[in-house]
Amino acid sequence: MIRKILEARTVISQFPIINPEKSVIKQLYNNMLQGKPKVHWKCLMYMNAARPKSKFTTWVQLHGKLLTIDRLSKWGLDVEKTCCLCQLQEESREHLFVQCTYVRRLWVRILRWMNKQMYNGTTWEQHLQWTISNAKGKSKEAQLFKVMYAEITYGIWNERNQ
Ligand SMILES: [Zn+2]
Repeated sequence: MIRKILEARTVISQFPIINPEKSVIKQLYNNMLQGKPKVHWKCLMYMNAARPKSKFTTWVQLHGKLLTIDRLSKWGLDVEKTCCLCQLQEESREHLFVQCTYVRRLWVRILRWMNKQMYNGTTWEQHLQWTISNAKGKSKEAQLFKVMYAEITYGIWNERNQ
C-alpha cells in the first residue's frame, strides 16, 4: 500500500503544472485519462436512470468482461458450453445478447411495445451500433431505450444465472 502511494506521488509529480485556479482533482483525473481510448458506447451509461445493478451488469457486458461460458472455458474450466436459455448454441457474449432465439423473442416484444423496429444484425458489433444509435441524444425515447437496455441486459444475465 505504501509503495502504491509512493508510486502515485511519482506519477503525479510528472504531470504538467497544475493551475491553482481550477480543481486539482479534476486536472489530475483529466491528465490520467490522456492516452486512454474513449469508449464509443458511453451514451449508454451516461445519465442512465436504470437501477445501479443493471447499469453495472451493462458496463461489465460492454467491456466484454461478463463470465460467459466461452471465457470460462478459455480459462480451462470444464463447463457445459450450451446456452442455457435456448439450448441450441454455445454461449458467448455475442450469442447470449445478440443471437440467442430466447433473447431475440424478448427483444421483439419489448421493441414492439416501444414502437421500434427489431434489429437484423447478428454480430456483437452490429448489435452495439444499433444500440448506440437508439441511445444517443436527449430525447425521452433515447432515455427510455437506455434504461430498457440496461434492465434487459441485467434480466438476461440474471435469468442465465438462475
Ligand atoms: Zn441461446
